[in-house]
Amino acid sequence: MSISDILKQKAGAGQKVLTEYESKEILRKIGIPITDQKLTSNKEETISVAEEIGFPVVMKLMAEDVVHKSDMGAVKLNIKTNEEVEQAFDDLMKIPSEAEKKISVQKMAKEPITELIIGMTTDPQFGPALMFGIGGILVELLEDVSFRIAPITEYDAKEMIREIKGFPLLDGFRGKPKADIDAIVDTLMKISEFVIENEEIYEMDLNPVFIYEDGLVCVDARIILKSENK
Ligand code: ADP
Ligand code: MG
Repeated sequence: MSISDILKQKAGAGQKVLTEYESKEILRKIGIPITDQKLTSNKEETISVAEEIGFPVVMKLMAEDVVHKSDMGAVKLNIKTNEEVEQAFDDLMKIPSEAEKKISVQKMAKEPITELIIGMTTDPQFGPALMFGIGGILVELLEDVSFRIAPITEYDAKEMIREIKGFPLLDGFRGKPKADIDAIVDTLMKISEFVIENEEIYEMDLNPVFIYEDGLVCVDARIILKSENK
């Protein structure tokens, strides 16, 4: 099935918010690196998938009605043994939800230079707009983000990255390595193309993306579709 068929099917079934797992599978299809991830539904399977992926792993509850996962205790980081997998499985399955519950087992990504936020929102007047910022406190407190209306050029993407106040964090701040700016440009361009080609998309939130000296990886994402009557 093509991505646009998948999106149409979801929208047709009335599913507005894609889970992290579904959102990241779409990112993978459009060439944006994501953490290895697999869905499981029982304990034995979860243990064998964790061993297959390789410790340490991260386990998260996937359910359509659990959107802000950390707030619900639905993210378990740095799981290193089978016993910890079992404990995490029990804890996650206890989280209240009306929807079908699955576990996403994923690779624990190594510590980045910094976390990034890359997103897209729909402006009522101008249509899809891309967003870029440094994750964590810089976005939450200081609203240090840049925006451009899609489609963007490579030049626009480079400007978006350079114009945020936190840019020095990506440019070798205090002896840290320089971040792979080309990888960020590439990701912004891919999202721009994707939202222009797929009008069903209302909002995208890659939060966070881990940026390294060499490459990046998206560890959490959410795609929201337009509701039918929009
Ligand atoms: P939420 O739905 O609350 O945004 P996230 O999936 O973003 O949950 O997880 C919360 C935090 O845990 C992330 O901001 C990130 O710092 C960390 N994290 C999540 N997944 C991974 C992973 N696969 N590897 C390393 N760290 C992760
Ligand atoms: Mg997140």
